[in-house]
Amino acid sequence: MPAPEQIRTSDKSLAELKEEICDIGRRIYAKGFAAGNDGNISFRLGPNEVLCTPTLVSKGFMKPADLCIVDMEGNQLDGVRKRSSEILLHLTIMKERPDVNAVVHCHPPHATAFAVAREPIPQCVLPEVEIFLGEVPITRYETPGGQKFADTVKPFVKHANVMILANHGTVSCGETVERAYWWTEILDAYCRILMLAKDLGRVSHLTRAETQELLDLKAKWGFADPRLEKGMEGCDVCGHDVFRSTWAATGVARTAFAPPPPAGADRQPVPSAGAIDHEAVARIVREVCKQLGVPTPG
Ligand SMILES: [Zn+2]
Repeated sequence: MPAPEQIRTSDKSLAELKEEICDIGRRIYAKGFAAGNDGNISFRLGPNEVLCTPTLVSKGFMKPADLCIVDMEGNQLDGVRKRSSEILLHLTIMKERPDVNAVVHCHPPHATAFAVAREPIPQCVLPEVEIFLGEVPITRYETPGGQKFADTVKPFVKHANVMILANHGTVSCGETVERAYWWTEILDAYCRILMLAKDLGRVSHLTRAETQELLDLKAKWGFADPRLEKGMEGCDVCGHDVFRSTWAATGVARTAFAPPPPAGADRQPVPSAGAIDHEAVARIVREVCKQLGVPTPG
């Protein structure tokens, strides 16, 4: 078995990679994405070695010496602390995705609210989200920890870099730990913006044509998106075409957010402040003042 120092997936030393995981741990904790000892981070060192965070340690206060090394079956090879109980989730993603070296799992509150509501993440709203994330799936619920839980990502992981785990949290993956973390941060910021916009009263969607422009940019920049793959040609780009067939099995249903306008429809009409009937308002004010027996203002 190769020594842990023989890193093949990164130019960085083992010490630097440990520092990087501790740094991302601090960022996850500072963002409120991991309460108590929640969350775990991993990095593939080589074909059968994965660096990972320990169980029962706050991700905001980890030291490099706290980190563990496991093999691809989750057996601990190195480290004084016990490896994360959710390592099988990380290893399953790495086995399914040879391009992935890093996995980040945590419980960011806004994205986890969608996980609890089992509400599909609206598409075609923010350009950056279309470019970096695409459609975000919600997995089937399983008790965390075992292989059965880890297997819930299998139907989705080849088509998504960030997934919502039903009634649990999120998991994201990438070439580096920082990249894997980005997808979680972008997703949680997006979920927060959606909730704030809904509170203001309306979420307006990009048109299909505007979204198609973003997909063209995505193809040009070399980002993968299932909507760009053969067989998805002519799909409804805002219609959750990639993962919608899984909704029945995962209990996902559109409840809180309206669907985007149908393909071919133009932008939704914007109610204009100019539409207020000032004469009608003045009439109501006069009537209220009369009933109250007070003089009409103005
Ligand atoms: Zn968790």
